[in-house]
Amino acid sequence: MSTTGTVAILPGDGIGPEVIDQAVRVIEHLNQHAGAGLRCERASVGGTAYDQHGHPLPPATLELAKRADAILLGAVGGPKWESLPRELRPERALLSLRSELNLFANLRPAILFPELVAASTLKPEVVSGLDLMIVRELTGGIYFGQPRGIRVEADGTRTGFNTMVYNEHEIRRIAESAFQIARLRNRRLCSVEKANVLEVSELWREIVTHVGRSYPDVQLSHMYVDNASMQLIKAPKQFDVIVTSNLFGDILSDAASMLTGSIGMLPSASLDANQKGMYEPVHGSAPDIAGRNVANPLATILSVAMMLRSTFGKADLALRVEQAVRQALARGYRTGDIATAGEPTIGTREMGDAVIAAL
Ligand code: NAD
Repeated sequence: MSTTGTVAILPGDGIGPEVIDQAVRVIEHLNQHAGAGLRCERASVGGTAYDQHGHPLPPATLELAKRADAILLGAVGGPKWESLPRELRPERALLSLRSELNLFANLRPAILFPELVAASTLKPEVVSGLDLMIVRELTGGIYFGQPRGIRVEADGTRTGFNTMVYNEHEIRRIAESAFQIARLRNRRLCSVEKANVLEVSELWREIVTHVGRSYPDVQLSHMYVDNASMQLIKAPKQFDVIVTSNLFGDILSDAASMLTGSIGMLPSASLDANQKGMYEPVHGSAPDIAGRNVANPLATILSVAMMLRSTFGKADLALRVEQAVRQALARGYRTGDIATAGEPTIGTREMGDAVIAAL
């Protein structure tokens, strides 16, 4: 088998290892039967890494992440590590990986599989056929802007402050990514900001509009974030691709994910400028169900599909994985989180079996 590339496998904590195991089985199946050529190398991350090595992102894990072409991550975190100092908490590993690898473009698709329409809290006519992509800037904006802090004023009252800041370069590169993604979809891009109030958004709109001149085949629109949050719930199918800043994207992507009914179905990708990426399910480590073989592995398996498409340019294999997931659902297989009342459920491993059978 010729090697296409190396995938760093970072299972993490809680249900992370359980869902990752099923995703790795899918990769191995594609290696054996479709010549995918992906070499998987494992390393520890998060609380598990802290227990083993005293740090949530040990040097060997960071070295592997840098060397690999892509990273597949389960989830990190859990009550066991919540009282650790901030810099040693499991979640710190994610922030470090994003900034060390310059993963500035976060892609979160919200797709509603027809078989799961009943799992959404919204009416079927509002959400059926939903297929939108949120492109969130991930390494800038108010989450990283300086100055930040809590200062004590002369009269003793405290003032908390953060800075929402973007330079032209940061806006241009996320806009370029979003236009390119829109080109591969339905060629509609909506840029979301708050240009009526914020100067940083004014610049955002100006740069995105300018970048748009190089993509005349993509229809660009602009929307204020307050209206976008309303439109996402009212008529989500009007959107194809949304591009937005770190803070607005954090909030809007969580709202969009709930349109689809289950967090156990949603993959994500965080990419650098060369399509190297970290792929992970949107959900966390779900300590409440860890170790019981009940977690839904489909978000992680769909993350493998995103990886095949974005980093390895294997759109045909990506589609095969997505179709296998769809087929497993069509055959009636459900984990607890996506089952409606009375439907029989299967476990994590059995859902992996169902996807591999469909492949
Ligand atoms: P969570 O996503 O772990 O769980 C929320 C709810 O969804 C829980 O009831 C859980 O059982 C359920 N759930 C999540 N994934 C599921 C799956 N695949 N199948 C079935 N049900 C699933 O969020 P939380 O409870 O807020 O956080 C738990 C821990 O995870 C915390 O330590 C948090 O910091 C961490 N976290 C990590 C990431 C990450 O690694 N990217 C993301 C979010 C939260």
